[in-house]
Amino acid sequence: MNNFEFKNPTKIIFGKDTIKKLTEEIPADAKVLLLYGGGSIKKNGIYDQVKTALAKIDTVEFGGIPANPEYAVLMNALKVVKDEKITYLLAVGGGSVIDGTKFLSAAAVYDGDTPWEILTKNVKTEKGMPFGTVLTLPATGSEMNSGAVITRAETKEKLAMGGPGLFPVFSILDPQVITSIPERQLVNGITDAFTHVLEQYMTYPVGALLQDRFAESILQTLIEVAPKVLKDPSDYNAAANFMWSCTMALNGLIQKGVPSDWAVHAMGHELTALFGIDHARTLAVIAPSHYKFNFEDKKEKLAQYADRVWNITEGSTDDKAYAAIERTEAFFKELGIDTKLSDYTKDYEGTAEKIAERFTNRGWLGLGEHQSLSPDKVEKIVKMAY
Ligand code: NAP
Ligand code: FE
Repeated sequence: MNNFEFKNPTKIIFGKDTIKKLTEEIPADAKVLLLYGGGSIKKNGIYDQVKTALAKIDTVEFGGIPANPEYAVLMNALKVVKDEKITYLLAVGGGSVIDGTKFLSAAAVYDGDTPWEILTKNVKTEKGMPFGTVLTLPATGSEMNSGAVITRAETKEKLAMGGPGLFPVFSILDPQVITSIPERQLVNGITDAFTHVLEQYMTYPVGALLQDRFAESILQTLIEVAPKVLKDPSDYNAAANFMWSCTMALNGLIQKGVPSDWAVHAMGHELTALFGIDHARTLAVIAPSHYKFNFEDKKEKLAQYADRVWNITEGSTDDKAYAAIERTEAFFKELGIDTKLSDYTKDYEGTAEKIAERFTNRGWLGLGEHQSLSPDKVEKIVKMAY
């Protein structure tokens, strides 16, 4: 097992009817900016619950943060933060609203030339403006981690940021919010969380037995609850297990003591930036070819995954490892997620070269757990995903 340090300061408030606990978490003298997305919270009653809980707190609102939080929109929100002398941010939404809020938390205290530098210069925020979240969509784990991904339509870029100062102070997870989530977003959530685990698990084994089993248990739980959640999103127990699995998939715990990959996300982000494909779907496109391309490196872990997660016990290490990749792709398809780039766009020719060129220009010359995926290898993986 590798050396590690672990600190996750986010307070999780989990369970039925917990949104009202907002009152206890936000300082009474705070000036709050309530941030939300396209308005789903106004239809499903979450907005009303939040407003009731905030009744005694000085609150300003900013709605309209789009899926794949857009820099230009967030810069408008930043103006509100400054003009209104906001002291506390509250994200009510899924990964997009929470990530957008993290950007604001960092940008509010940033004193460089332009906040875009936070993304391009890899600025690590040590202390941002404090913020809490009310999670409305289990998927990203953003409610309990310190990372964010921001999109800029103008340049068709989607870049990551983060830092120890960007953990939410608290996150409220009421599984009842799942009832109103459209199927498309539910399957995205399952796929995103599943791939988060794969990115931290499907690496060269370092004898981290407990982390392996944490990861496998999250994968198994997602596989078990996925059909239940899709059949009946109001099945509270299925919803609760789904929600907690998504949070646990990316709150840092399973990443400790093991190498982690994240190349699937890096390539996937480009497909969202270039074609607007939903984040989770880009992962389902890239993951199978990534694991096939890096087969030799990852086959031992792939075979363990085959055995322990999919109950594929027959055959050699190579047989099991290959079957595990096929089974993973089949799982995404069973959820209704297409796994080839050509399923999403007719304009896919040249994409691999473009992504390789972008990575070269950014100096991203070695992705993956061994920093060995050079742009020419990235080009091959993306081509395999056409
Ligand atoms: P999302 O983009 O936040 O939301 C997708 C859609 O679901 C939106 O239209 C949203 O509507 C709707 N929605 C959310 N909750 C709902 C509810 N309870 N009922 C009905 N509709 C609801 O989706 P996401 O998958 O959570 O986030 C994706 C973003 O997170 C991507 O930009 C991705 O790159 C990023 N991400 C971040 C991390 C991280 O660790 N920070 C990890 C992976 C991915 P509204 O617009 O009305 O809210
Ligand atoms: Fe993700």
